[in-house]
Amino acid sequence: MDNGVSLNGSPDTQGTCPLVASLSMHYNNHCIGAMGMEMAMYEIKIESSFSGAHRLRGYDGQCENLHGHNWKVEVFISSSELGEDGMVLDFRKLREATQAVLEALDHRYLNEIPYFAEINPSSENIAKYIFDRLKDRLEGIHARLTKVTAWESASACASYYEDYDNA
Ligand SMILES: [Zn+2]
Repeated sequence: MDNGVSLNGSPDTQGTCPLVASLSMHYNNHCIGAMGMEMAMYEIKIESSFSGAHRLRGYDGQCENLHGHNWKVEVFISSSELGEDGMVLDFRKLREATQAVLEALDHRYLNEIPYFAEINPSSENIAKYIFDRLKDRLEGIHARLTKVTAWESASACASYYEDYDNA
């Protein structure tokens, strides 16, 4: 082929093109999601539980009466990278933080807790209550609290999570 132009031969096109250099830097700074490429994530989960009583105000049915549940609580943490210890977060630390939050609910009449004075202590609101407090306790970790699920029976649960695409 002889078109008079040789890409390999021209000194101007050898070395690093500034555009390519800036793109690869972007890549190394983990802006991969923003570029529409696949994002790989690690996720860990712990399970815990607490016992509590509640009554659902304004609920047309048996749940308006005082009754109790043994709630099973699942806490999900995720991260695109592992710490130097090869973990998303030490399970022990996560368990301790979760227990500290659940202590405020365990063996309590949930309607009497100030947070639930106006807000119904449904499993949905309980999941959000736990999520918000756990998020505060886990501030500063490199991983992210992604979801809390509260099971009020073996077959019924509610979850609270926050969209973290733009975090
Ligand atoms: Zn109930």
